[in-house]
Amino acid sequence: MSATPVIAYDPRHVEHRPRLDLQYGRPTPNPERPARVEAIRDALRTSRWERQVVAPNGFPMELAARVHEPAYLEFLRARAEASATAGIDGEWFPYTWPRDRALDTGTPISGTTPDNAWRAAECALTAAARVRDGAPWSMSVARPPGHHAGAGYHGGYCYLNHAAIVAGFLLEPATRVAIIDLDIHHGNGTQDIFYATDRVGYASIHGEPSWAYPPHTGHPNEIGIGAGVGHNHNQPLPKGTGWGPYRDALDRALEALDVMDPAWLVVSQGFDTFAGDRWGGFELHAPDYAAIGERLRSFGRPLVIILEGGYETSCLADGSLALLDGLDRE
Ligand SMILES: [Zn+2]
Repeated sequence: MSATPVIAYDPRHVEHRPRLDLQYGRPTPNPERPARVEAIRDALRTSRWERQVVAPNGFPMELAARVHEPAYLEFLRARAEASATAGIDGEWFPYTWPRDRALDTGTPISGTTPDNAWRAAECALTAAARVRDGAPWSMSVARPPGHHAGAGYHGGYCYLNHAAIVAGFLLEPATRVAIIDLDIHHGNGTQDIFYATDRVGYASIHGEPSWAYPPHTGHPNEIGIGAGVGHNHNQPLPKGTGWGPYRDALDRALEALDVMDPAWLVVSQGFDTFAGDRWGGFELHAPDYAAIGERLRSFGRPLVIILEGGYETSCLADGSLALLDGLDRE
């Protein structure tokens, strides 16, 4: 008998409260805020999914070191400790890039950042462990997100790459893992981490780098390097993309990943593709997420779904419930 899917959630995510996002030197309120995940949690409470919400289990930190450089993990700890004195109001911002391992100025480090990022990773790992135990799918509803964090850098509100950590957890000598990234922003960190391997395939559908963060990656000609050639698939789409062309891109992405015959599919799911998201630009609506869920199930591999971005609370709530319904439809 297959295990029941779970939705992993840790209420302590509210301790992660980045205050500022510096954009072109201008301080703005950081949009990666607790209300994002709480909106989904509230929606689950009155849904048929409530009984499947579980607290995360503990996992060894060694799982982070499988995909992140040990020196970067030490850097995060050291910066967190220094943030109280070196930062502004307890938040540390980068000064010089090569030293500071930062992709941007929107991802401050505070004293609790490493613990909070690891708890989000543990939610993702809890979902992954459930799937490894036989559940057809499971989901992590946690923050901060992860797909912009590389092996040795943070950025895009991300510190640890949860999708990559899960892929490393599921990977065994005889199996391969596929990752599909459905956030509106290219998962530069995930791409970087697995760019040179044929063991983990990556496919992303995202806004064109000319208008969507990050501005330097996500082009179709980024196809992998060495053994990884042919295992990295980017589909940048124009502003205003709606369900028709998005569905076609999703089918192409799944087809590309199917070729490597992966045992598992990890899904970096953003809801910033929802029409009206402040960092978005696509025009997806709630029923489209149900259709995404159905298509992911029809891929035929167990799914680990990890929350990435999405900055409007109603879009996060409506999109998540619709996705779950689609996953359950078979
Ligand atoms: Zn995003």
